[in-house]
Order: sequence, then structure tokens, then C-alpha cells
Amino acid sequence: TKTITDVICPFCGTLCDDLEVVVSDDGKQLLEVYNACAIGAEKFLHSQAKDRITRPRMRQEDGSWKEITYDEAIEYTAQMLANAKKPLMYGWSSTNCEAQALGSELGEIVGAVMDNTATVCHGTSLIAVQDIGIPTCTLGEVKNRADRIVFWGCNPAHAHPRHMSRYSIFPRGFFTGKGHKGRKVIVVDPRPTDTANVADVHLQVEQGRDYELLNAFRVAFKGEKLPDVVAGIPKEKIYEAAETLKSGRFVIIFFGMGVTQSLGKNHNIDEAIAVTRDLNEYTKAAIMPMRGHYNVTGSGQVWGWLFGFPFAVDLSRGYARYNPGETTANDLLRRDEVDAVFVLGSDPGAHFPFSSVKKIYDRPSVAIDPHETPTTEVCKVHVPVAFVGVEVGGCAYRMDNVPIETRKVVEPPEGMMTDEEFLSRVLARVKEIKGV
Ligand code: SF4
Repeated sequence: TKTITDVICPFCGTLCDDLEVVVSDDGKQLLEVYNACAIGAEKFLHSQAKDRITRPRMRQEDGSWKEITYDEAIEYTAQMLANAKKPLMYGWSSTNCEAQALGSELGEIVGAVMDNTATVCHGTSLIAVQDIGIPTCTLGEVKNRADRIVFWGCNPAHAHPRHMSRYSIFPRGFFTGKGHKGRKVIVVDPRPTDTANVADVHLQVEQGRDYELLNAFRVAFKGEKLPDVVAGIPKEKIYEAAETLKSGRFVIIFFGMGVTQSLGKNHNIDEAIAVTRDLNEYTKAAIMPMRGHYNVTGSGQVWGWLFGFPFAVDLSRGYARYNPGETTANDLLRRDEVDAVFVLGSDPGAHFPFSSVKKIYDRPSVAIDPHETPTTEVCKVHVPVAFVGVEVGGCAYRMDNVPIETRKVVEPPEGMMTDEEFLSRVLARVKEIKGV
């Protein structure tokens, strides 16, 4: 056997880069994964599953699957995209930037609406950043400098399991030699989570009232008067937490879907950014979204350079339009505005409302995914591909917008295509059909 070191985990946006993977001498079998958390290790080990689907399949009239060749899957996908008036090309998170760039070229030629998983996650954060900008930093700065950590509406103990040990609560950095002992941790969450259990302070905000509490912090920083209770929190606790933050040397606010997708949405993030900005009058402060999917940050970056917008990009008029609420995947599906659905590197079947999933089921549809998922179960064609970050490398962006070159550690099953190979073949065929 041989051990490959400094492997990047392709599961969550933390992109841990210290994994060690043991593979067989011929590089065909992955045997062991060290340093990853349980969900990260499972991603690697799942590539070795005995029941893995290795060939494309097409759904038959009676609902059963028929195995087809990659050539047939490419032809179906190319015809579907070339003939659709307005296809939806959704996902783009669990893949590399190279595939995202190829998919964008394809989307431009077929006049697709391109949307990524931010649409049901941190899209509201992206809107807020466009509203008022963002004072942010890298995870390296957090590790080396931050002595006040806030987790607002997120639960990294479950969603980003090694975030706390590598970057935020526990590690010893250049100016944070005492590790956990030198830091104060505040968790704001309506629920008593496992992250709240390791915090110094848990502010159990009432569900959907984050905006009020954020606003109360801004009042408290200035020492102005607050009502006795704000969003379920007694004012004394808010003043105390505000002082804790002001007295720090470096404050970092991490936030998650508890604030981005609850009442107020992007306005919550506007206010959280304003809290960070206000704190910079007293100390150094930064704020960072806890991006979930592996390379969702990368798809925003790639589309940012290519189209100027990070998600919900409508290319159907031959130029890029962006209007979240109108050009977002769920809204388009709900209003019956797309006539074909292409999904790569995500699972809307598991995360979209039932009404949207049903619309996917009713249309010509293709899911490109190494796994069998609720999405593959509603699509007409399922194209299994190599696991990005395990069986193929490429560029991915960490949650703090740092690009990292990921590694291939094991060979994919024989004859299996990668996202990039599949997309470039479909692109070539679409160009032929369209004569471009
Ligand atoms: Fe992978 Fe995230 Fe776990 Fe790190 S925290 S090992 S990136 S799943």
C-alpha cells in the first residue's frame, strides 16, 4: 500500500487539507482515510461501494431503469439542451471549477438559466454583499488572530465537523497560543445545539427574530438604551455579549442558514455585516458565511468572472441577467418557465420543495452524479461520474474564497467518465447540432 498525504477533503466548504489516504499499490483501491471527520471519510469510502452504479441509465415507461452507454447519455443530454427553449442547469457545487467553466460555456450556447445551491443556502448572503460589501478575512487569519468567535444560526459541530478544531475554537495560532482558553465563543441559535454546548455564551434567540437581535447589538455597542427583552434575550445578556465582543482583539462572526433562510433573509445579513462594520470602531472584526457544499464558493467565483453574477444567471436572452426571485431555480420551476432540467453536483430532489421536484420529474431531465440520490430517482437519465476530489482533482474554493488545488487519490472504475469529460463531449455535440 501507499499513503498519500495533504489530501483535500471534498465534502464541506472547510476543505480540510491535511487528510491522509491509504491506497493499494496499483492505485485502484482506496483502503483507509485518516484525519477526516466521519462525513468526510464517508465521501472517500463511498467511492469503493460494491453496489456503486458505474454506467448511465435511462428511465423506462414503466419506471424501471435501462442501462445505456455514455454515448447514448451524451446524445440525450445534447439533444435535450439544444432543443429546449429555456433549460435549467442547476447544481455545480460538488464539482471542480474546470467543470463549472465548461458548464458555463454550454449554458451560454443553449441559453440556459444557470443556478447553484446558493439559491437555497447563502444566495441571500451574496445579495447582502452586493448591497453593502463585506469586511471578511481568511480562515488562516481566524486561526492565528481571532479571540472572539460568534456562530450565528449555524451548527458546525454537525455541518462542518472539523471547522472548530482546525480554524475557529480550538487551534493554537500565532497570536492565539492558548487555543480554546484564550478565546470567548458566543453561539446565537434558537436551539441548544452541540456547538452551543461548547460555547461560553448561548443566546437562545426566538425563531425568526435575528434581525432584531442584530440591531440590538448595534444599540448596545453604543451604550444606548434597550428594551428589557429583545428577541427573547434579556437586555443584560446583550450588553454583556456586546462588551465581550468590543473587548476582543479580533472578532469573527460565522453565520449559517439559520439567518440566511429565516425571516428577513438578506436583510439579516445586511444587519450582520453592519454589526461587523460597527465593531471595527472598537477592535478588528470580520464576518464569514459558513458555505456548505464543497465547491459552491467556486461556482460563484467562476460565474462571477464569466457573467458578473454569482448565482441565478439567466442566459436565455443571449446575455446574462440576474434577478433572484425571478431567475432562481425554484421560482422558475414553480412558474413552469423551464422546459428541461440538467443537474450536476447537487441534490435538489432532497432539498427543493416537493412542488419543484415534481416539475423536474415532469420534464426531460438529466442528473450527473456519482451517487444514487433523490434527484437521480426523479430524472429521466442518470449519468454516474467519477468522484471529484477523490477520483479526479481540480480547483476548488474554500469557504473563505481561497482556491485550493485538490488531489486525485484513486482511479475511478474502468470506463467511467469525469464531469469534465462528459461536459466537453456534450458541448461538442451541442455545437454540432446548433452549427456553432
Ligand atoms: Fe471534510 Fe468538512 Fe469534515 Fe473537513 S470538516 S474533513 S472538509 S467534511
